[in-house]
Amino acid sequence: MDGYDAIVIGAGNGGLTASAGLAKKGLRVLLLERHNIPGGCATSFCRGRFEFEVALHQLSGMGTPTKPGPLRMMLGNLGILDQLELVEMPDLYSVAMPDGFKIGFKPDKNQVIGELKARFPHEGKNIDTFFNLVYAYANQMLATFFFKDPAPTRKKYPDMYAYAFKTAADVLDELFTDPLLKAVISVYWGYIGLPPDRLAFPYLAMIFFTYIEFKPFHIKGGSQALSNVIANTFISHGGTVRYNCGVKKIIVEEDAVKGVVTEEGDRIEARFVVSNASQVSTYVGLMDPEHVPDKVPREMRGRSLSPSAFTLFAGFDCEPDAIGFMESTTFLLKDLDVSDRTLSRMRELPIGNQPMVLSCYDVADPEFSPQGTCQANMVTLKYGKTWLRVPPREYHRVKFKCAEEMLGRVEEIYPDIRWHIEELEVATPLTHMRYLGHPEGAIYGYEQYVKDSMFFQPGRYSPIHGLYFASGWVGDCGFHPTLQAGLNVAKSIVRKLEKEEK
Ligand SMILES: Cc1cc2nc3c(=O)[nH]c(=O)nc-3n(C[C@H](O)[C@H](O)[C@H](O)COP(=O)(O)OP(=O)(O)OC[C@H]3O[C@@H](n4cnc5c(N)ncnc54)[C@H](O)[C@@H]3O)c2cc1C
Repeated sequence: MDGYDAIVIGAGNGGLTASAGLAKKGLRVLLLERHNIPGGCATSFCRGRFEFEVALHQLSGMGTPTKPGPLRMMLGNLGILDQLELVEMPDLYSVAMPDGFKIGFKPDKNQVIGELKARFPHEGKNIDTFFNLVYAYANQMLATFFFKDPAPTRKKYPDMYAYAFKTAADVLDELFTDPLLKAVISVYWGYIGLPPDRLAFPYLAMIFFTYIEFKPFHIKGGSQALSNVIANTFISHGGTVRYNCGVKKIIVEEDAVKGVVTEEGDRIEARFVVSNASQVSTYVGLMDPEHVPDKVPREMRGRSLSPSAFTLFAGFDCEPDAIGFMESTTFLLKDLDVSDRTLSRMRELPIGNQPMVLSCYDVADPEFSPQGTCQANMVTLKYGKTWLRVPPREYHRVKFKCAEEMLGRVEEIYPDIRWHIEELEVATPLTHMRYLGHPEGAIYGYEQYVKDSMFFQPGRYSPIHGLYFASGWVGDCGFHPTLQAGLNVAKSIVRKLEKEEK
């Protein structure tokens, strides 16, 4: 075979759906992945008798069979929905603090509002106002971007225009006075990477709306099951995949891609290259500087890298309730700070009072771990730069010191946790950097400041002909957005070819 129609670099969510979408339309596609399994973040790994989920805490956008969300429809269109066993999580989230404070929500708007009002009666009226705003905002965004209103105006969508450039803290401070309520209602910021002082309000609105309306889900077999199904679909449509095969270079001639060179030195030609690698690695690491148009580094310089994560993966010798895990998703708070102070702490090695999220998948799916056991992921956000400064000879000492500190924090809420640990693995920002290839191990692409929010993202196109991007680096992060991003790229390429044929 002399070359491919398209080469896809990276088998993360965006790379997988781009590959499957293109192969389904009959294009000859080669998918190259540096790791030995598909999925990127959407993978698992085994220790002892446990298979640990790497990333997925709550799948968004799925919806139920009777009220399908955009992700359910998308997986249906891709022809893979019936190959997945989806698990609806009974809880939205809980918040627990060492002083005994605990509150829990179901994915039900009335329950969330009712519980908040019961616990914060002095803020009752403004709790209604907040959720009215969240829902109005989300519905106006859906009308504009999902249903593609051809003539959106400020008059038709007043909240979308009024709140597009506010931070989450702007809205929280406008409506509430109780710092505990502000902390509880904004904990989902951890899924996007910036504390409310910096986070664009649209993200908080959309995340609340989607998880309540389309319910949080998990997948039997973890996110690896989803990645495997998409990879197999790609192969069944005639696609070729090579694992353990990193791309070293994208070949560019006369402002157009011509193919790639692998880390093993193979030169492979293709008319289109889709990069699921970060935008930074693609332009800086995989291309000769003379081929990168001036406006690209100028634009990239204005953005900053999102944090990475510090994670404990623990397998326990007991059922979840023996430790006190009664909900799938619990945010552990130690103080109520939602400001830049928290952002600064994310740049330090110690865990300190940082918020963290603990997910126990076995609560929603008792078969997730072997019978009589359970597992949990405990994650807090940390910038990779700090970890890059740790001398290699100190790395293991620092890593286990931080792990011990994090476990101590979790013990404040679940005092018996330590005595049930059967397996424990620790991932630092350097682990994410190694497995994803992203600069500083950033897990959410670029930071979602107001100036870099959903309205100002780089997007799938490149000034270099034939080069496209499909990842959380050029659009929103998360499973649903990145899976959608890959399909959008596939559609763009197919449309381009169809136009040329006419
Ligand atoms: C700890 C954690 C928790 C998360 N929790 C959630 C959650 O609960 N819900 C949710 O919706 N989202 C969550 N996310 C976010 C979500 O996982 C990501 O946004 C999404 O999976 C990113 O997909 P992607 O397409 O951008 O590719 P990535 O997953 O970033 O994968 C990129 C792939 O490209 C490959 N690659 C890079 N360079 C090269 C090269 N030169 N040659 C070949 N291959 C290369 C890498 O090996 C990798 O496989 C979480 C992420 C993390 C890390």
